[in-house]
Amino acid sequence: MRDLAYRDSLTGLFNHRYFKEILSAEVERAARYRNPLSLILIDIDFFKKVNDTFGHPAGDHVLREVAGTFLKLLRNCDIVARYGGEEFAIILPETKGKSAKVLAQRVRRGIEQLEIRFENNTIPVTISCGISSCDFITESLDIEGFVKLSDQALYKAKGSGRNRVELS
Ligand code: GH3
Ligand code: MG
Ligand code: MG
Repeated sequence: MRDLAYRDSLTGLFNHRYFKEILSAEVERAARYRNPLSLILIDIDFFKKVNDTFGHPAGDHVLREVAGTFLKLLRNCDIVARYGGEEFAIILPETKGKSAKVLAQRVRRGIEQLEIRFENNTIPVTISCGISSCDFITESLDIEGFVKLSDQALYKAKGSGRNRVELS
């Protein structure tokens, strides 16, 4: 029962509330040990069109498939959350920006290569990713500012054509 409060019912990923709790705990931990920390924000490209073309249940199916692919491509210690409707967040403890970018590219490619079938259709899906990272954290890291940086990077990825990764 306790677990349910922390998970998104559609995808089974952690929900936004738990994401916030974990992020502040991870920032604290990283600051204590002077460890790096990275955050990837992900948004599905043209997702409204998926719903409009194939229907809302197809959109839900895509969300579940995308979530499952994230889990398959990441390590156990990486934290994957559904951040909002078609937005996801991945917290990467002990990971510097450069490695986070390599990982985000791998995830982006993994999604691009999926062949998501629903009823008689194959639904093409791509994602855009924005990353913020600290190679080592000082106690003064402002969490909201940290999230904002990855959001700005995501915005840049969208603006420069989508299906891209940007590091802030
Ligand atoms: P962009 O590439 O700029 O991100 O375009 P977009 O179409 O993905 O962005 P927009 O924010 O316009 O659309 C997001 C859509 O996601 C609209 C909303 O209906 C859909 N959505 C949000 N949550 C869910 C959900 O739980 N299930 C389904 N099927 N659709 C959802
Ligand atoms: Mg969105
Ligand atoms: Mg979108």
